[in-house]
Amino acid sequence: MKKLMLCACSLGVMAAGGTYSKDAWSQGLAGQNSAKETAGAAKPQDTEQWEPIPPKVSPGANDGAAPSDAIVLFDGRNLDQWVMTNDRSPARWRVENGTMVVDKSHGNIETKRLFKDYQLHLEYRIPADITGEGQARGNSGLFLAATGPNDQGYEIQILDSFDNATYVNGQAASVYKQNPPLVNASRKPGEWQSYEVIWTAPVFHADGTLETPAYVTVFHNGVLVQDNVEIQGPTVTGDPDKPHAEKLPLALQDHNHPVRYRNIWLRELSPLE
Ligand code: MG
Repeated sequence: MKKLMLCACSLGVMAAGGTYSKDAWSQGLAGQNSAKETAGAAKPQDTEQWEPIPPKVSPGANDGAAPSDAIVLFDGRNLDQWVMTNDRSPARWRVENGTMVVDKSHGNIETKRLFKDYQLHLEYRIPADITGEGQARGNSGLFLAATGPNDQGYEIQILDSFDNATYVNGQAASVYKQNPPLVNASRKPGEWQSYEVIWTAPVFHADGTLETPAYVTVFHNGVLVQDNVEIQGPTVTGDPDKPHAEKLPLALQDHNHPVRYRNIWLRELSPLE
């Protein structure tokens, strides 16, 4: 049996080899050799970089757990890191069984701390008994940067999109009203879902004009759904980006259903120095 497998393998190599002409193969090798000769005195260590040394970070126990340099925004115990978006008073959403629950009688909440560029992990759950359709089915939202009260800022949509038609640039994991997700990686209502986000904030010139736009990359339940997407401006109004502070809070939307959140952490990103 082993011998037969070896024979099949050899035939496979021959078959693969047959797809290339021997001449082309030889020419390729010759090209590589001449490139090496042209490089002349270049040494392998010429292309080695030794500084700056990346700081050590201890990863979490699993990929969803906060690494050692993360700022934990919610660990299931309290809302100490959060305030109401409209007046910055203490956040009044409910904490229950290690989760925070959207309370539509109070409004959006946002972080006390302000951030620029970051990596974020967040988990959410649409109620198992969710009702309604379209945008009225488990709607909440992650504002990557809240530029003002209510829904001002840049929203990654949170919605039940497992089996719920709506405009595609408003379904779960869309950059709201700007960019649909590459695929629909939604889990069923009642199941915990995750977002991993890399956010690069916009940069403005001193005169208020845009120097570089914001960019976002999002994984939904581990699946890439937004691939370094350029943000066109605030997501609700669709207006061009207006200058704002370099650092802003991150916010969660109160919309119309008791969506739950857990395990939210963030790592601030800055270039190596
Ligand atoms: Mg929303």
